[in-house]
Amino acid sequence: MTQDELFKILVAHCKEYGFIFPSSEIYDGLAAVYDYGQMGVELKNNIKQYWWNAMTRLNENIVGIDAAVFMHPSTWVASGHVAAFNDPLIDNRDSKKRYRADVLIEDYLSKIEEKIEKEVAKGRKRFGDAFDEAQFRATNPNVLREKAHYDEVHARYKKAEDTNDLAEYKQIILDLGIVCPISGTKNWTDVRQFNLMFSTQFGSTGEGANTVYLRPETAQGIFVDYINVQKTGRMKVPFGIAQIGKAFRNEVVARQFIFRMREFEQMEMEFFCKPGTEMEWFKKWKENRMKWHVNLGMGAENYRFHDHEKLAHYANAATDIEFHFPFGFKELEGIHSRTDFDLGNHQQLSGRKLTYFDPETGESYVPYCVETSIGVDRMFLAVLSHSYKQETLENGETRVVLSLPAPLAPVKAAILPLVKKDGLPEVAQEIMNDLKYDFNCQYEDKDSIGKRYRRQDAIGTPYCITVDHDTLNDHCVTVRDRDTMQQERVPIAELKALIDKKVNLNNLLRNL
Ligand code: ATP
Repeated sequence: MTQDELFKILVAHCKEYGFIFPSSEIYDGLAAVYDYGQMGVELKNNIKQYWWNAMTRLNENIVGIDAAVFMHPSTWVASGHVAAFNDPLIDNRDSKKRYRADVLIEDYLSKIEEKIEKEVAKGRKRFGDAFDEAQFRATNPNVLREKAHYDEVHARYKKAEDTNDLAEYKQIILDLGIVCPISGTKNWTDVRQFNLMFSTQFGSTGEGANTVYLRPETAQGIFVDYINVQKTGRMKVPFGIAQIGKAFRNEVVARQFIFRMREFEQMEMEFFCKPGTEMEWFKKWKENRMKWHVNLGMGAENYRFHDHEKLAHYANAATDIEFHFPFGFKELEGIHSRTDFDLGNHQQLSGRKLTYFDPETGESYVPYCVETSIGVDRMFLAVLSHSYKQETLENGETRVVLSLPAPLAPVKAAILPLVKKDGLPEVAQEIMNDLKYDFNCQYEDKDSIGKRYRRQDAIGTPYCITVDHDTLNDHCVTVRDRDTMQQERVPIAELKALIDKKVNLNNLLRNL
């Protein structure tokens, strides 16, 4: 199965099992907007809790806030979004589809990278244990040819990006022969800039109404509240402020499911530190955030850092944590050293003092800031795409299983009476009533036990608990493990401890 096919199946699975629905689907949906269903919201909440607790509980010097989506319009002048939050757009005249010119070129570059990796994989297969990867990369003619082409395109692209040369973007697309995936033609318009912020009218319409923006990032809420939090929380630099909330971007290319949405959620933390110490904190947060990801057990090889070559004018270091999505390695989280750009600009535009007085040294300064910023939805996609598996069983049947990290699973245990009679439902209900205060559980008595197992596998429930006739005498139940499908008899009295050991979020947090 190709990765493309797998991705389509994943999207269908998300809908079928109540994880994600297209928004307003009865009206044929709204592009790049999605709703989380009954399973999705649980998984999403668990991801958020893992992040929130890791930030605010494990770090005594990090506190959380929840700022409003609407902010004073000057916020977005100070942050630079009004002037420069743009994407370079290009249209295909035949399909009438719009694309980001930079993404078309980056996709082209990714394809070259894939070709190189395929060559290397072939070499590895051919030479077996004797394979010397470094030597192969340095000498294989196919690899060298592709690499030279990559370097040439990459250099042109970076120059166009640095100089904001829209005509050159178009020329690169034409020279590379990039076609529209829909029409298959090269009938492109010129490239134009397009601001990604959504705006609306605030207050009663008419003369008094002001244009306000739906925030394109949550971070600015933290910057404008920084002084309130610092003073009321009596926070000492270094300290951090964390926030989870919705953000809105009028994204141009909106074709990768929840990877790129127009309404999405971010988990951002701004860490304020003394100027001059920011590189040390940048390094610490890089390590810290990678550890948070790898700790979920989805394979360290599926993550990599991508250090930015071109830094935004306000940043003095930036990196992305990329994840191996079904469509390749792509940005999952950004870590940026933002200097005093945001606080400094807000101080200037608002006229309010945003300096920090260091009681130990007697100095006053505007703190520098290191930001960690991750999209909840992208994290959701990472977890889901990594967990989705189609397995062939020994008896030749196939099963679909979501091997989600157990603490993130929407339902932790399913309580299943073997039959709907002989007092079994009553016992099952009793177990359910006991466990429901600690775990999100599901009681299910319809269909055969095999079908019920399959349904729970498909939503990633770590444990199925079956109540059978023996339960009435021995007060034990059969516990089936999602991943191994092994079954064991467990006394009802020991259920809580058994489930807790596997699904308690604190066990994950303790490893950080
Ligand atoms: P990209 O280059 O993919 O557009 P970005 O560099 O603009 O992303 P940031 O502004 O650094 O992204 O935002 C931080 C994080 O927010 C990203 O790493 C991503 O996880 C998430 N994010 C950004 N835009 C979107 C979106 N349109 N849909 C879903 N998540 C998003």
